[in-house]
Amino acid sequence: MKNENSRIQEIFSKCNFRGEVKFMEPMNDHTSLRIGGPADVFVAPHDLSSLKNMKRILKQEQIPFFTLGGGTNILVRDGGIEGAVISFHSFRKIEVLSEDEEYVRLSVEAGTPLQRLVNFSKENGYSGVEGLVGIPGTVGGAICGNAGAFGYEMKDVLVSITIMDSEGEVEKFDTNRIDFGYRWSSILPTDLILSAEITLKKDKKEDVSAKVEDFLKRKREKQPLSEPSAGCVFKNPPGLSAGRLIDESGCKGMRIGDVEVSTLHANFFINRGKATASDFIRLMEEVTYRVKEKSGVILEPEIKIVGRNEV
Ligand SMILES: Cc1cc2nc3c(=O)[nH]c(=O)nc-3n(C[C@H](O)[C@H](O)[C@H](O)COP(=O)(O)OP(=O)(O)OC[C@H]3O[C@@H](n4cnc5c(N)ncnc54)[C@H](O)[C@@H]3O)c2cc1C
Repeated sequence: MKNENSRIQEIFSKCNFRGEVKFMEPMNDHTSLRIGGPADVFVAPHDLSSLKNMKRILKQEQIPFFTLGGGTNILVRDGGIEGAVISFHSFRKIEVLSEDEEYVRLSVEAGTPLQRLVNFSKENGYSGVEGLVGIPGTVGGAICGNAGAFGYEMKDVLVSITIMDSEGEVEKFDTNRIDFGYRWSSILPTDLILSAEITLKKDKKEDVSAKVEDFLKRKREKQPLSEPSAGCVFKNPPGLSAGRLIDESGCKGMRIGDVEVSTLHANFFINRGKATASDFIRLMEEVTYRVKEKSGVILEPEIKIVGRNEV
């Protein structure tokens, strides 16, 4: 690993690149769980040509990469991430493309915080993303996992997305060419989402605002939003609530190391201090086992577990 690290450092020190480059960057600084070992290299390109250039180098040098949004739906293992982590931090523009009496069409860059989009819509009286209030992370991450709540899903407002494929080619896709499901999309892990076009419906500002406030109030009452977590750990099995199943299996408040099953919402696991990914995974296994014993249901993870095992 040491040799591979030196090779990566040499490649990136020479490469013509506008943006941030950090070596052995601790991923716990980039995840809402505050867990995760170092990325061999962390890159945040400032513009499209730097991104393209970097993608070419990664391919040529056969360096694996992982695309990071806000890091709010991932668990990074304690061994960190092999190769490069690409951050879209500098891609966060919202632009009005067109509008008529009824609708507005926006272009939104992938690194835009989802809550900036929700607030922008609220301030302007654009309806369509009210139920996404309080979901942290970026628009790119929300598209990739089709984030949603209160009957709203990211896919419902998408018209097209622009991606950079594994060859570095940029292509715009109508969203009817992409499959979306419950917290899932068919977008390949090697495709980088650059931006999306979305359509929202014009509405009265006070109506949009009232819906947003109501959803946020309900979310705050049920979820530990201010504590370090990655949101729901498991997907809801069809017709059932994963949180309720975990609660009924007696797991609320269960703790391994510094990872605890939230007492407010049992499908949220909280980092109580110095939690490790291995403790988190052990707690997931224990909860899965107990739920299976109690109800016969096998829970499936909603969070994505990434990175290497060994430190
Ligand atoms: C307190 C809390 C509450 C939450 N509530 C909800 C909720 O109500 N509903 C819900 O659906 N989720 C919820 N989540 C989970 C999470 O916020 C969402 O899944 C969010 O959309 C993830 O976005 P992100 O930018 O953080 O993605 P990340 O966690 O960084 O990444 C998630 C996946 O998206 C990929 N990805 C990210 N950006 C790009 C890109 N530009 N191109 C290609 N791939 C990309 C990553 O590679 C990874 O596979 C919650 C999380 C927390 C912490």
